[in-house]
Amino acid sequence: MKFFVTGGAGFIGSHMVDLLLKEGEVVVYDNFSSGKMEFLEDAQKNPGFTLVEGDLLDYDKLKEAMSGCDWVYHFAANPDVRTGVKEPGRDLEQGVQATFNVLEAMRANSVENIVFSSSSTVYGEATVLPTPEDYGPLVPISIYAAAKLGSEAFITSYAHTFNMRGWIFRFANIIGTRGTHGILVDFKNKLENNPAELEILGDGTQKKSYLNVVECVEVMKFAVDNSPEQVNIFNLGSEDQITVARIAEIVVEELKLPDVKLNYTGGDRGWKGDVPQMSLSIEKVKKLGWQPKRNSEEAIRDAFRSLL
Ligand code: NAD
Repeated sequence: MKFFVTGGAGFIGSHMVDLLLKEGEVVVYDNFSSGKMEFLEDAQKNPGFTLVEGDLLDYDKLKEAMSGCDWVYHFAANPDVRTGVKEPGRDLEQGVQATFNVLEAMRANSVENIVFSSSSTVYGEATVLPTPEDYGPLVPISIYAAAKLGSEAFITSYAHTFNMRGWIFRFANIIGTRGTHGILVDFKNKLENNPAELEILGDGTQKKSYLNVVECVEVMKFAVDNSPEQVNIFNLGSEDQITVARIAEIVVEELKLPDVKLNYTGGDRGWKGDVPQMSLSIEKVKKLGWQPKRNSEEAIRDAFRSLL
């Protein structure tokens, strides 16, 4: 089995690379815009590993690099929801166009299987919590989420039109070792700069679900191996939620900092496009036989310790 992993030098992708190398050969295709060579340190020792430094927007290079592969795991994208406010075209290119190029390269190389990292943000501000996979209508409120939903639509329509199979995973917040962005990295950087104060975006009541990155890639592979439909859509997260204010308390506690002043910027969300309440129903993947090992608070503590 030969796996092609876009964004394989990134936070989640590199963990998937480590897992897939136990089952076969892996080609990583990454432009290193946010990925890091050090995340592939172990992988590079494996004779079944190949690294191609390239951009998904370079279609000819992508098509050539994918030759001989059986499976595509597609992680590469702009990972930051916030950039859409200033650069809306970025998600169109790095999300929808990049996914379209991946699908076209698959068609050209007769690769039939794609596994995609989508996001809970496709649900927008869902009125049903925990939100199940068949919730609708899907009304994204960020450009990032629009690009994820557009990419999902290209994948399902390619599956139908060209006899491919797709696994679409709508992630909660994924955290853990090799984390390079998100709330924990943000809080850590701010407190390193000024241990006396912590700026918190919003009023702190935003409440979301968090999943450990190793659990994330393990359950993805498990669901791929156990769900053989043409299109397979799964939410991945923990069964509970935690507030931003509680995360701030945990971070301060873990750093053992006395008297940190918490400064809330105010408002019900951190930025334009932020979904204040996110809770995913994971009943569908649980029915396959999976159970998260940590709740959100345990995942946050573990991830923060690993960042330190
Ligand atoms: P990441 O930034 O660490 O990984 C993305 C990788 O893709 C990086 O290695 C980057 O260099 C590469 N890349 C980006 N654009 C590229 C391009 N045009 N061509 C080639 N390579 C390119 O981010 P991550 O957190 O590991 O996220 C992985 C995927 O999971 C993304 O699609 C992200 O949207 C999705 N996701 C992440 C989370 C989360 O909590 N981290 C939540 C929901 C969805």
